[in-house]
Amino acid sequence: MLYEAPAELLTNKILLVTGAGDGIGRVAARTYAAHGATVILLGKTTAKLEAVYDEIVAAGHPEPGIAPMDLANVEPQAIQELAEVIEQQYGRLDGLLHNASILGDRAPLEHYDLNLWSRVIQVNLNAVFMLTRILLPALRQSAQASLLFTSSSVGATPRAYWGPYAVSKYGMEGMAKLFAEELENTSNIRVNIINPGATRTRMRAAAYPNENPATVKVPEDLMPLYLYLMGDDSAGVNGKTFNANSW
Ligand code: NAP
Repeated sequence: MLYEAPAELLTNKILLVTGAGDGIGRVAARTYAAHGATVILLGKTTAKLEAVYDEIVAAGHPEPGIAPMDLANVEPQAIQELAEVIEQQYGRLDGLLHNASILGDRAPLEHYDLNLWSRVIQVNLNAVFMLTRILLPALRQSAQASLLFTSSSVGATPRAYWGPYAVSKYGMEGMAKLFAEELENTSNIRVNIINPGATRTRMRAAAYPNENPATVKVPEDLMPLYLYLMGDDSAGVNGKTFNANSW
């Protein structure tokens, strides 16, 4: 699909992007802000979030919020506090892009490190559930909210040696579909899944160290889809999976 987002697509929207300090999340946060959104930047490394904050402010876009949070160790209480700050400051949340994730090792399950297994499942699946569950009341305050989950090709069809990363994405796709069904007739929240496909980031370089990065598309190329799904032009679209390479 060819989609060109209107410049004002996200004016007055309050959005939260996880993993907003790097890779696809960083570009999504900047792009959403450039289309008028106030973006809450959630991520692990505060300095990276501050750099994105500075870029957005320097460009004259709405002032973002910063929410440093290590999803590998986060307790529900910390997310609850974030939800309260969002409700107090903005009164609602219009969109949540679950983007943060970690790759773990590329290794056979038989030899997979048990602690690393738990960490990958925690960041890529448990924390995604906790954030969604605790931020739902704020999303319910929106007239038209978009909840977006980021998967991967190995989420639709798990592939050998992709370990807990594949398992977490597979589980997350199931969770997204349950949320889509459960919220469809009881809320103004639509729920969809994005598979970005091969994209030039740190994670891609770690997964494919022998690949020439110049042969892989950049996060900016994904933004028409990310804008379409976050803006009201996708109102009514629910429970769908979008493959960025063919939509
Ligand atoms: P990336 O460059 O590695 O960025 C990942 C982001 O997640 C970073 O901002 C990172 O923050 C954050 N993050 C990692 N661990 C975290 C934690 N414990 N707590 C909070 N934030 C954490 O990855 P990417 O390639 O942009 O991937 C973005 C999404 O697309 C992921 O869900 C990935 O699975 C998916 N995806 C990517 C590709 C691809 O080819 N790139 C393909 C398919 C799917 P720090 O930098 O501070 O650690």
